Amino acid sequence: MADPQRRALAQPLLRALILLGAPGAGKGTQAREVARLYDVPHLSTGDMFREHVAKGTELGRRAKPIMESGKLVPDEIVLAMVEERVARKDCAAGFVLDGFPRTLPQAERLEEILACLPLRRALAVNLLVDDEAVVRRIAARRICNSCGAIYSAGEKMPRVEGKCDVCGGQVVQRPDDREDVVRQRLATYHEQTRPVTEFYRRRGQLLELDGSRDIASVQHELLALLARLHEQ
Ligand code: AMP
Repeated sequence: MADPQRRALAQPLLRALILLGAPGAGKGTQAREVARLYDVPHLSTGDMFREHVAKGTELGRRAKPIMESGKLVPDEIVLAMVEERVARKDCAAGFVLDGFPRTLPQAERLEEILACLPLRRALAVNLLVDDEAVVRRIAARRICNSCGAIYSAGEKMPRVEGKCDVCGGQVVQRPDDREDVVRQRLATYHEQTRPVTEFYRRRGQLLELDGSRDIASVQHELLALLARLHEQ
């Protein structure tokens, strides 16, 4: 790792870093690693919903059929969950958002929530990957059903087949990673989430990265970009 990146990682993130991009663009993989390196929480609304589904909570029962159809959970449910989460103490030095905001009302409400927190201006990073590459990537994706660690056939698989390297949990295919659901999720993304990218672009808070490269190259560029921000 280069010196400016090492220096940047020694300082607190002190902002909300928002990873945007289509399903399968690499938001989860990159968000986890950046959050680990900066030692801030990784807030994935998809992971939060999957946890509710696994625990069989009321929220999980409402979210499950929506998730399995590739559509979005209603804004008020997502917003209540995120609002409660970012108010916790461990978010004081910043956090990485993955899979949120996904609609304009979510982005607008997030701005209001962030305005009440003592953080630097939020930064959105859009990972660009074309639709066909997304479909191919998602077909190869597997996740740990306990800790959410992400694997990919051909690029990064668990050392022991079917068993998570991080927590020993079971590594499975997500039910919404079937091709028909992925196509619906992509349609939902283009319709409802693309305007969120424009929202941040208009506000001068958007940076874009080519997300089609391998995990390490995207990571390197993302860290370099954050280091440059720290040095400004
Ligand atoms: P993800 O793991 O981010 O791909 O999310 C999986 C599914 O959870 C999505 O397809 C949605 O059904 C639901 N979901 C996750 N985040 C959001 C959000 N911010 N707004 C609405 N639905 C969401």
